[in-house]
Amino acid sequence: MNQTVICPGSFDPVTLGHLDIITRAAKMFDRVVVAVLVNSSKTPTFSTEERMELLRDAVSDLPNVDIVSFEGLLAEYCKNSGIGTIVKGLRAVSDFEYEFQMAIANKKLNPGLETMFLTADADSTFLSSSVVREIGSMGGDISNFVPACVHDRIAARLRK
Ligand code: ADP
Repeated sequence: MNQTVICPGSFDPVTLGHLDIITRAAKMFDRVVVAVLVNSSKTPTFSTEERMELLRDAVSDLPNVDIVSFEGLLAEYCKNSGIGTIVKGLRAVSDFEYEFQMAIANKKLNPGLETMFLTADADSTFLSSSVVREIGSMGGDISNFVPACVHDRIAARLRK
C-alpha cells in the first residue's frame, strides 16, 4: 500500500524536534507531507514562505518529504488531498491532553482520518519553536536546537 502521511504544525521556525519526527516518519511511510499552518488570526515570527523555505532546506536529503502550506481545517485538507494519517510527536504528558482532543475532533470531522504519535527523542522533549525564538531573540546559542543547515539564517533573523 502506498501510504502518505501528514506532519502538520506551525514550524515557526523548524527545530531539531520537528526534524526528528519528520525523519522517522519518512523511514516508516512512502511519502510525508509536512504542512505549514497558515493561521490568519496569528502573526508568526517567520512568514509562511520563510517557514517553508527553512523546512525545505532542512529536509533536502529526504526525497520522500514534501513541504506544503494549508489554511483552515486540517481534517478538510486531508480529505481533499486524500491523506488518511496524521503523524505527530508527543513530548510530554502536557502535550497529550490537547493532542488527544484534536485527534478525536479530527476523526469526528473526517472519520477516515487516523492520528499516530511518535514519542519525542529524549534530547528534544524540552524543545519547541517558542524556546528557540526566546533564546535566539536574546542572542543565545540555538545551535543545539535547530538543523545546522538553517542555523545561521534562523539566528540572524531572530536577532533582528
Ligand atoms: P511547537 O511550536 O510547539 O514547536 P509546532 O506546531 O510547530 O509546535 O509543531 C508541530 C508538531 O511537531 C507538534 O504537534 C508535535 O507533534 C511536533 N513537535 C514539535 N516539537 C517537537 C519536539 N521537540 N519533539 C517531537 N515532536 C515535536
